Amino acid sequence: VNRTPVAVGLDIGGTNLRAGLVAADGTLLTRRTAHNPAPRRSGDDAEDALVDAIVAAWKDLGSNLPLGVGIASLVRSGGHLLGGPNIGVHDLELGDRLRTATGTSVTVANDATVAVWGEHRAGAATGLDDVVLVTVGTGVGGGVVTGGRLLFGATGVASELGHIVVCADGRRCPCGARGCLEAYASGRSIGAIASERAAEGGLSGALAGRAEITGQDVTEAAAAGDEEAALLLAEAGRWLGIGIGSLVNVFDPAVVLIGGGAGQAAGDWLLPAARDALTPQLIERERRRIPPVRLATLGDDAGMVGAGLLATQT
Ligand SMILES: [Zn+2]
Repeated sequence: VNRTPVAVGLDIGGTNLRAGLVAADGTLLTRRTAHNPAPRRSGDDAEDALVDAIVAAWKDLGSNLPLGVGIASLVRSGGHLLGGPNIGVHDLELGDRLRTATGTSVTVANDATVAVWGEHRAGAATGLDDVVLVTVGTGVGGGVVTGGRLLFGATGVASELGHIVVCADGRRCPCGARGCLEAYASGRSIGAIASERAAEGGLSGALAGRAEITGQDVTEAAAAGDEEAALLLAEAGRWLGIGIGSLVNVFDPAVVLIGGGAGQAAGDWLLPAARDALTPQLIERERRRIPPVRLATLGDDAGMVGAGLLATQT
């Protein structure tokens, strides 16, 4: 246990900007939540508002400590935001802007990438050097630690685990391609598939006849005992397991973690189905060690913790 403050970690999504003062052992000592101001503005105004909000949170929490930012965007090495569907900015040299504004060392990375670092250093995968995290939220994201190091790729944008293809020529994904894991297993996709089934008259239980069903509606119905809702989640879990099978064949992780709001909420239905679907995908499945599939433990804190601890390394 080492509660010395070492960094400020931020987790920025389409709605919220969460900031925490991170201790050396990964404990969050203080936290603040603000709105991400960028999505309601445009152009330079959105960029300035985002930079100002980050700097204000850093000043508020940490005086001169290193600053780590996890954000729902593709992020190139060095901190260039390519863009994400929800965050309100794209093509922004966020790392450079923050280094100039703060004068401290700054790390900017994708939100799921920093989340797996948090789980590896202080969460469900502490002590394990090979970890795959799949985050199931509105979309599907993920991060990979391999040999004790974060996977960034040649330009920084690796580990978009939601966009591995699980069904060639399958459902259209928000990214524009077809058959991605995200098109089957995200909270948004679970809701969309349920809405389609309801519109076709294919449901007779709690979700029958409803329009615009969300992933949360499906999880709540399953929790209340609706069998069709449980089957819809098991179906999503099966796709998740098929995707995880490919990831296990590639990375041979010690553990596979499921995080994200929808993943945590629907874990009772997603995880058993994912485990069942995973094994048949694996080469030498009778002889190899099949990694456990478990829920992540840091929840919404994973991004702040991981971003902060990552910032102390540069
Ligand atoms: Zn996709």
